[in-house]
Amino acid sequence: MSASGLFPPDPDGAGDGFAERVRDAIDRQELFLVYQPQADVFTNRLTGFEALSRWRLSDGTMLPPDVFVPMAEQGKAIHLLGEWSLRTACAAAAEWQRTGMADVPVSVNLSARQLDDPGLVRMVLGVLADSGLPAANLKLELTETALFGQTQNAREALVQLRGAGVRLVLDDFGTGWSSLATLRRVPVESLKIDKQFVQAMVEDRDAAAIVQAVVAMAHALDLTAVAEGVETPEQRLFLQAYRCDTLQGFWLSRPLPTDGVPDFLSRLGLT
Ligand code: C2E
Ligand code: CA
Ligand code: CA
Ligand code: CA
Repeated sequence: MSASGLFPPDPDGAGDGFAERVRDAIDRQELFLVYQPQADVFTNRLTGFEALSRWRLSDGTMLPPDVFVPMAEQGKAIHLLGEWSLRTACAAAAEWQRTGMADVPVSVNLSARQLDDPGLVRMVLGVLADSGLPAANLKLELTETALFGQTQNAREALVQLRGAGVRLVLDDFGTGWSSLATLRRVPVESLKIDKQFVQAMVEDRDAAAIVQAVVAMAHALDLTAVAEGVETPEQRLFLQAYRCDTLQGFWLSRPLPTDGVPDFLSRLGLT
């Protein structure tokens, strides 16, 4: 079954029918977030959570974000989805902080399309204010592709967000049309190495060289390096050898539903 077959054809062909569908999904709580822990590569200390969207259709079918995010990006739906995921993640992180469960940042993925929105900065700062989450407890993950060839306005939006204390991470590093010059123009604090390199690293010398080089470059630029998709103890050992800072992946934990977060934290011995 093709993913688009799950939805009625869009009469406008402009993605606006899909925006309605996303609005309904939010109202009916078909959309929800899961949270994947991140930890220090050496000490295993918790450093944050990444919020990832999930969509359970009324018949139980689970749609992965790799399907519905690109569909949403074709129209206005991405702005609904983007604001909803930010609002939900900030509320959750504010709750972890308020209850003393964990005072760590939450990372939210930002679509390239959201950078085109002139209301983006106002929206993000409004969501922070509503949730009571300090700006420093929010990280926005941007893809290289999103930043490559961005307009001056988009860069200014990122500079304004950074100025307000929001933290920026370059996601999927190594997979996009990266220009290293982007790194100097956008105030990111971390490079997130895509899982394709992390997972190939133990077997493939080229992938290993890429991971090692990205960590070294991050450090030379005073940035931290984050490895995603870490599944095995061997991969963690490689990351330690390369002095990578932070890891995320099934080795530490799968993405957790909201009510799985306290259990995870107590197993870490934090509560
Ligand atoms: P991403 O930002 O690169 O997120 C990492 C993906 O790797 C997630 O897939 C995560 O569940 C998966 N993953 C984590 N650890 C492991 C591991 O050890 N092994 C393997 N094989 N996979 C692992 P997911 O949740 O399916 O998300 C896919 C992509 O969808 C994300 O890639 C992100 O680009 C996008 N996405 C998810 N939620 C949102 C959202 O709310 N907004 C936007 N704009 N994009 C989103
Ligand atoms: Ca991400
Ligand atoms: Ca990735
Ligand atoms: Ca991605």
